Amino acid sequence: MFRMGGVTDDDKLDAEATRRVLRRALRMGAPFKKTVFAALGFVVVSTLGILLGPVIVRHGIDRGIEPGDRDVLRNAVIAYVVVVAMAYLAARQQYIFVNRAGEGFLRALRIRAFDHIQKQSLAFFDRYQSGVLISRMTADIESMAELVQWGLLQFIAAVFLIVIALILMLSLSWQLTIVALLVFPVIIVASRKFQRDSNAAYLVVRERVGENLSELQEGISGVRVIQAYAQEGEQTRQFVESNRSLYRSHVHSIRVSTWYFGLVETMGVFATALAIGIGGWLESRGDVTVGTIVAFVLLLAALFEPVQQLSQLYNTVQSSAAALNKLFTILDTEPDIRDGERELDRRGELTVEHVSFAYPGTDARVLRDVSITVGDGERLALVGPTGAGKSTVAKLMARLYDPTEGSIRLGGVDLRDATLASLRQRVVVVPQEGFLFGGSIADNVRIARPSATDAELREALDVIGALDRFGDFEHGIDTEVRERGSRLSAGERQLVSLARAALVDPAVLVLDEATSNLDPGTEVIVERALDRLMDGRTTIVVAHRLSTIRRADRIAVIDNGELAELGSHGELVALGGRYAALSAAWESSQPTV
Ligand code: ATP
Repeated sequence: MFRMGGVTDDDKLDAEATRRVLRRALRMGAPFKKTVFAALGFVVVSTLGILLGPVIVRHGIDRGIEPGDRDVLRNAVIAYVVVVAMAYLAARQQYIFVNRAGEGFLRALRIRAFDHIQKQSLAFFDRYQSGVLISRMTADIESMAELVQWGLLQFIAAVFLIVIALILMLSLSWQLTIVALLVFPVIIVASRKFQRDSNAAYLVVRERVGENLSELQEGISGVRVIQAYAQEGEQTRQFVESNRSLYRSHVHSIRVSTWYFGLVETMGVFATALAIGIGGWLESRGDVTVGTIVAFVLLLAALFEPVQQLSQLYNTVQSSAAALNKLFTILDTEPDIRDGERELDRRGELTVEHVSFAYPGTDARVLRDVSITVGDGERLALVGPTGAGKSTVAKLMARLYDPTEGSIRLGGVDLRDATLASLRQRVVVVPQEGFLFGGSIADNVRIARPSATDAELREALDVIGALDRFGDFEHGIDTEVRERGSRLSAGERQLVSLARAALVDPAVLVLDEATSNLDPGTEVIVERALDRLMDGRTTIVVAHRLSTIRRADRIAVIDNGELAELGSHGELVALGGRYAALSAAWESSQPTV
């Protein structure tokens, strides 16, 4: 079961790690500096507009309404409208610029991460399951969207507004400012509690979302097995259960928020009431004017919003930093298959010299001191019990991993010294089940060499005898394969895989023979295609069928990570060892072959 977004230790960063991650994100945001500065300019304009409003109102009341001066009142109203409109327009522009920078940053991050993932070796994909990577690219990037689109600017805007508002309030009336600030200790204590509670609630929600996604993913991917055993009811019951806890966690988190925001709002009303009450008393003593009291009330309203925003921002920063940190971990993983400098020749022996191997991240050696030389154009079959290490030998020969000890050479060149481009051109791996992408049969074959002409493409299909087969389809090789090739039969999907290899025209073919059985008719077509593809090439095949083994020049028996026997069918049968026993067992179990 993969976890789309379960809570891990990575979700809780300490303050130092949070700062480090944010600093790195800021550095990555450097290309968007201009846009961010433009946004900041608009922040200043809109903030000043918001705060200027109350000052104009004060002027209108004290100099216009009180003395009955209509001109002053009219001018104040016009100025107020202009300032509010300006603040609105600036806020709009600020929003556009902030989002432009934020989306740009996310786009750059997404592309960088995707490109990085594409360059990784198999060892990386052993470590990160596809579900986890998809979660990094979707859920984690989503969770930092709020920060990069809003957070940073909101923080600056809120702090700017609070500071300017306080200065304005002090300059209007220090007595009223002290009165209004009386409620702040309560707000500070409540904010701290809110940060703690809401962070905990957020982590629980995240965990529940992860569990829910897992249920969903399994329910959809495994639907055939579920239906085969009539377990739909049970699956739905589990999904209902998981949704119930997700619902509860959301409700709890909403309760935490409403409690806090309700309190801040009440404190805002309380501060306003105090300002009006004590302001009235101060006015009667001639200390403040009515306009000042009204301006105060308006300023307080403007002040409480950023206070609330700042508390929320704390959590946004926490969750975004955790998400960024996880993405950075991926970006910091260097591909462990490095490019060499030598071009590989077309011809030459493939030599495996004293190779031992343990999969990255494990200690157990799955291969020990294996040495095999495969002659130019020779067909070698790798056989042995399940888990013996046959596929591992094949993967090393194609440099999907590097040996832990020893070396593998083609034409005398260590594969580690070869350029990856020439390596992938000279050595092609045909997996058991080739992945098919959305698109036509032709598109799928062309993936192996996008620069191939239509004629080359047809020739590749023709070489393996697949052109006739696909030619019978209504749209020929332009037939859509649908998702993962569901339009094609298992044998046809294998033909596409083989055509890909034919298009590259490699010197060495590494085949992992499909273990799934095809019907005899299709099997003949696939075998014929294979024969044609292997013609004139060095071929290493992880063999499961006796017919394939028989067609090999030599057979390497791998047992428990070691090369147990090596020779032709006749030699090994005569040797009377493991292969002879295996072969006898096969003969008796597969009378038709
Ligand atoms: P089969 O015929 O069943 O495919 P095989 O001989 O090809 O078996 P390998 O796939 O080479 O066997 O596996 C050899 C050993 O390495 C097994 O014990 C297997 O569990 C282990 N192994 C295979 N792939 C990995 C991996 N990616 N990470 C860690 N261990 C692995």
